[in-house]
Amino acid sequence: MSNKLNNRQTSRHEVLIIGGGAAGLSLALNLPTDMKVAVITKDRDSEGSTYYAQGGISAVLRADDSFDSHIQDTLNAGGGLCDEKAVQFTVENGPEAINWLADLGVPFSTDKHKNGKKSWHLTREGGHSHRRVIHAADATGKALQTTLLNHVKHSSNIELLDHHIAIDLITGEKLGLDHNRCLGAYALNKSNMQVETLQAHYVVLASGGASKVYLYTSNPDGSTGDGIAMAWRAGCRVSNMEFMQFHPTCLYHPDAKSFLLSEALRGEGAHLLLPDGTRFMHKFDERGELAPRDIVARAIDHEMKRLGVDCLYLDISHKPAAFIHSHFPTIYAKCLEYGIDLTREPAPIVPAAHYTCGGIISDLHGRTDIVNLYAIGETAFTGLHGANRMASNSLLECIVFARATAKHIEQSLNTPLQWCLINDWDESQVTNSDEEVVVSHNWDELRRFMWDYVGIVRTDKRLQRARRRVDLLLLEIDEYYGNFHVSSDLLELRNLATVADLIIRCAMQRKESRGLHYTLDYLQQNEKAENTVISPETASINNTTNNQAP
Ligand SMILES: Cc1cc2nc3c(=O)[nH]c(=O)nc-3n(C[C@H](O)[C@H](O)[C@H](O)COP(=O)(O)OP(=O)(O)OC[C@H]3O[C@@H](n4cnc5c(N)ncnc54)[C@H](O)[C@@H]3O)c2cc1C
Repeated sequence: MSNKLNNRQTSRHEVLIIGGGAAGLSLALNLPTDMKVAVITKDRDSEGSTYYAQGGISAVLRADDSFDSHIQDTLNAGGGLCDEKAVQFTVENGPEAINWLADLGVPFSTDKHKNGKKSWHLTREGGHSHRRVIHAADATGKALQTTLLNHVKHSSNIELLDHHIAIDLITGEKLGLDHNRCLGAYALNKSNMQVETLQAHYVVLASGGASKVYLYTSNPDGSTGDGIAMAWRAGCRVSNMEFMQFHPTCLYHPDAKSFLLSEALRGEGAHLLLPDGTRFMHKFDERGELAPRDIVARAIDHEMKRLGVDCLYLDISHKPAAFIHSHFPTIYAKCLEYGIDLTREPAPIVPAAHYTCGGIISDLHGRTDIVNLYAIGETAFTGLHGANRMASNSLLECIVFARATAKHIEQSLNTPLQWCLINDWDESQVTNSDEEVVVSHNWDELRRFMWDYVGIVRTDKRLQRARRRVDLLLLEIDEYYGNFHVSSDLLELRNLATVADLIIRCAMQRKESRGLHYTLDYLQQNEKAENTVISPETASINNTTNNQAP
């Protein structure tokens, strides 16, 4: 199927979905089958956080559980900042979303009972007071992504364009029209390095989180916050970017950049150790290694900074080898690949950025501040997670909001829309870069200062240091962007710098410690819980030269 106009660089679809993870694919599959839909992914079509999710998806699926209980657990985790309506909406639509996935054929793990009947096997994770996490063994994300992709590939109304990286949104305002509807996006086709104009009546950002802004992350390379940065540049408000969730134990090895050492290891008795082999968690919390994730992450960060070391260690070698083999076959095998034998020695670990709780402000229909622009999944801020995400609620949010957004788009179809005339991407003023090193250097610098100054434990001074550095980087990147042809690395760097700026702005505004935002300068929690909302209209925008695009 081709929706290209005669002009090689422009195509038209009714709906353009930027991102093909759990959120984007679920949305595509829930739209009416007579709508022309494009889903673009910037790398290969399976790549994104969804593929790597291990644990599962939370939903109330057993008679002894209740919506009230799931709601209460989510509110407790969220540190007083969850939007109760968003929580209730997500939880109450959970079972239907799971049934939809099961009907598509996602191979959820089951238990077989004595009477021969099967039921879903549900696990329990941190923060959940009931067993309510449905999963496909320890590779739920892979099963989910593969099943959704398979259906999308068999849907004749959906065009899947991989290796297309969206650059910027096209809006009525940018074109000088009398409305500010979203009209599509420019995207770089990485296979021929041409910039294409993807026109659409409805545009949905489903482009995942921004954890790659930190030096260490559990996320794949593409989590560069592109959707958040594009929405911000287009004029959308963004909220709560200071709440970045860190996973305490990611394997520290140059080749294992995003491999998680599951919390289950600590659950089964693994010890956290300093480089000299001493345990330290009891200094921070009487629950030791079993303290909640954010406390463990903070303790590790504190000890690393105190000692000036690059990593600490996780040790389960005191358990019998047979136990380790049978309980942690995947983790054991993966560590062995990197020369670490968990039955004999501790594994080096660092905490790693894991989940972006904030994002583009969107409502229960996925609507953003711009007409016909929607945001769903990790890129969106719906209010569900508050100041701290509860495990396994994020995939649920992707599916529930994708389905709600599809419904809203379907209901809006009665309003006829005209195609506008949109200019092609203009590269007449730019040349090939003569100094690619600027991009790679700035990538490294940005991720390191974000780690050191805007990481797990913050202070005003650290944030100010980061502020100064990001201001400089933004200027430098913008100058570079304005003068040279775009490349995927440059686009991602530009977005990372914008997202870093947004995180720092939000963190500077929050004068308290709450949930995932912990600052030594304001250890107290304010009586009133308030979201941090920032708007491009009121933020000072750098004056930059930009020779690209209309
Ligand atoms: C290791 C790991 C384990 C996790 N475990 C769990 C778990 O057990 N349970 C749970 O609920 N959550 C878990 N999470 C979180 C959860 O996986 C994510 O929040 C969720 O998958 C996000 O889905 P998404 O569709 O929003 O984005 P993603 O799955 O990240 O997909 C993003 C998509 O957007 C595309 N994209 C991005 N930018 C652009 C651009 N500029 N142009 C074009 N396309 C673009 C990407 O190519 C990709 O297709 C885990 C995350 C990680 C990293």
